Amino acid sequence: MSNSYPNRVTTAVPGPRSQSAHAARQQHVSASVGSYMPIYIERADGSILTDLDGNEFIDFGCGIGVTSLGHANEAAVGAMREQLEAFTHTLFTVTPYELYTEVARLLGEITPGDFAKKSVLSTTGAEAIENAVKIARSFTRRNGIAVVEHGYHGRTNLTLGMNYKAQPYSTGVGPRAGEIYRVPNSYPFRDGEQDGSVIARKAIKTLEKISGADNLACLVIEPIQGEGGIVVPAPGYLETLQAWCAENGIVVIADEIQTGLGRTGKLFASEHFGFVPDLVVTAKAIGAGIPLSAVTGRADVMDAIPAGGLSGTYSGNPVACAAAIEVLSQLTAPGAMDRTTEIGERLRAGLAQLQEKYPVIGDVRGHGALFGIELVDADGEPNVPAFATVSQAALANGLLVMAGGSDGHVLRLLPQVNISDELIDEALSILDTAFSAL
Ligand SMILES: *Cc1c(COP(=O)(O)O)cnc(C)c1O
Repeated sequence: MSNSYPNRVTTAVPGPRSQSAHAARQQHVSASVGSYMPIYIERADGSILTDLDGNEFIDFGCGIGVTSLGHANEAAVGAMREQLEAFTHTLFTVTPYELYTEVARLLGEITPGDFAKKSVLSTTGAEAIENAVKIARSFTRRNGIAVVEHGYHGRTNLTLGMNYKAQPYSTGVGPRAGEIYRVPNSYPFRDGEQDGSVIARKAIKTLEKISGADNLACLVIEPIQGEGGIVVPAPGYLETLQAWCAENGIVVIADEIQTGLGRTGKLFASEHFGFVPDLVVTAKAIGAGIPLSAVTGRADVMDAIPAGGLSGTYSGNPVACAAAIEVLSQLTAPGAMDRTTEIGERLRAGLAQLQEKYPVIGDVRGHGALFGIELVDADGEPNVPAFATVSQAALANGLLVMAGGSDGHVLRLLPQVNISDELIDEALSILDTAFSAL
């Protein structure tokens, strides 16, 4: 690997104009809204973010997997522009439009499972998770929600209770919702177990003890954990949980908000495993940057709540739906997922080289355009200071990476799902430089 790359960054980061933008923001924007990297963006194109100071950054975050097909994706922008000029809002529950139905039809076609499906659209990921739980509760007439350690599902009141981490999401903001039962996930790097069914059986035993299967409406689980640090479960884990849920009438809900829609080289990360959820939740990448989310799944389950029980003012906004139809068409085009798989292999090979060189890299894992690099200290424990050093050094050299892991010690990489080889190689070179800063 040669450490040569263009000089994309010409000022300190953040640069002077970002710094003054940040000063204004601190005066006017609630301090409760964090900013991971206070570089203020002026424009974005493909995989490149340009800040107010003219610095460029290769975007290995995509707004956490939202602009998966690249910033300013021409066809998606075109579809949105056309819809902007036709109409921007009517409220589907008052006077509907066909775009909503088309998004639902497409989602039914591409989500895992060979059964009749229906969808409901909403605006944010957390809202869709809440809808999925409401649907499962109504269908089963039970209340319990099973979730797993290191999971993340959002920042609304119900989802706060489903998240693993209290800090910073739910500390001091009141009681979390009840009837939520948390059990171990499969985390091969930490639990050392390569047979996922072993961990699944432990989780099941715990659920039977702390809830009882007949109290559970649903299991909500990310097939690969995003926020939790790109934790890829060992084979057998998801399948064993699914079989137990099926035996016990528990609705299986896959939170594919981060992993779905081509992120991992398959349309849904569930497909990497023999995992066929009853309901799949999507959001993030679906609207090319315009808020949209969905629950898609078994038609009988999806019809459980009486008419009027779901939706909201902006649910399934027509401009977002127009974007989504274009996004889904690009993701299902022949060869699209093959390209994302190739990207994953290129990343995996490059990151493996870095792992050999830098002992701080304990584990490299992921698929397609979703990778995690777990940083450890000499005892194999989470190395949080190393994360800060490496991510800052990467930024100073023109690469934006995300944080992940329950201790904030996992470098999370979410590049554009059709990024060029040149930019991958450039990013790997920058990471090499960044690790050598330790
Ligand atoms: C981002 C995310 C959510 C929450 O989505 P919002 O749109 O931020 O509400 C839920 N689950 C997972 C796995 C996510 O990555």
